[in-house]
Amino acid sequence: MILFKNGSEMAGWARQQRAAGRQIGFVPTMGALHPGHISLIEISKNACSLTVCSIFVNPTQFNDPRDFQKYPITIENDIYLLEAAGVDALFLPETEEMYPGGTKDLEHYPLGSLETLWEGKFRPGHFQGVCQVVRRLLDRVQPNRLFMGQKDYQQCLVIRHLLDLTGSTVLLQTCPIMREADGLAMSSRNQRLTAAERERAPAIYRALSWLKEHWREGKTETTLSHARCILEENGLRPDYIAIADADSLEPLPEVIERRGKEQAAKEREAKERVVALVAAYLGEVRLIDNLLLNGK
Ligand code: AMP
Repeated sequence: MILFKNGSEMAGWARQQRAAGRQIGFVPTMGALHPGHISLIEISKNACSLTVCSIFVNPTQFNDPRDFQKYPITIENDIYLLEAAGVDALFLPETEEMYPGGTKDLEHYPLGSLETLWEGKFRPGHFQGVCQVVRRLLDRVQPNRLFMGQKDYQQCLVIRHLLDLTGSTVLLQTCPIMREADGLAMSSRNQRLTAAERERAPAIYRALSWLKEHWREGKTETTLSHARCILEENGLRPDYIAIADADSLEPLPEVIERRGKEQAAKEREAKERVVALVAAYLGEVRLIDNLLLNGK
């Protein structure tokens, strides 16, 4: 595995590889790697001739400074895991490399309602930071394809929007969520849970699964309050639990109200694109997860 810390060296290597006809798959991460990250690398390796991974804990996407300070860093183990996974190149920049003029007064991206709903609402500025870093990473890594996890569902929609906005030809592939045996979505932040919190954390997946089973019955609000109870009984403090249109992320009750119940039900059946989304605190740690409710 080749290690690049310098952006222009990274870009120079990538250009050479592409000129030689090689397809570059790219997996951006913030490190503290787990099998969820490795699954993206495997998907990239199956689809592309070369796989590049990046590790960069991007300061501009943290709206909570404590979350940034406490973000787990396990770089030696990460390098070991990436070598073992057969990654061709690792891009490991310093903050100055990514933001040579500092992190103040950076560019702004028009993200519409993606920035006011759910994660956008509860983490102001977060998706601007995500766009700022992904744009810079793509500029240096020059990939053909980008692999990101459905675990960060709204982030995938934001990046699709960013690629459209910037006229990028990079293809985004959204990859499945890897879970622990008890259903907890793998996440670098899980390392920060105490043993007692870790035992309670699978309630998130239980709440989502309950929604998947019951969302067609009765009123959405009633179904959601039951799911919220599953979280709260287990000591989780939800920022939100929602059922939303999987493309626009508009909450389902609003979609129903606007279009008329019957028509919305038909559209839902036909399109089969509804997602349940959760963000909840367990102690100091904020966890997110989601589940597509109708299969496809
Ligand atoms: P992060 O290091 O948390 O920024 O994540 C880097 C990439 O890995 C993102 O595209 C995430 O969506 C993805 N990812 C994180 N957790 C998982 C998981 N449990 N399963 C699949 N992909 C994941």
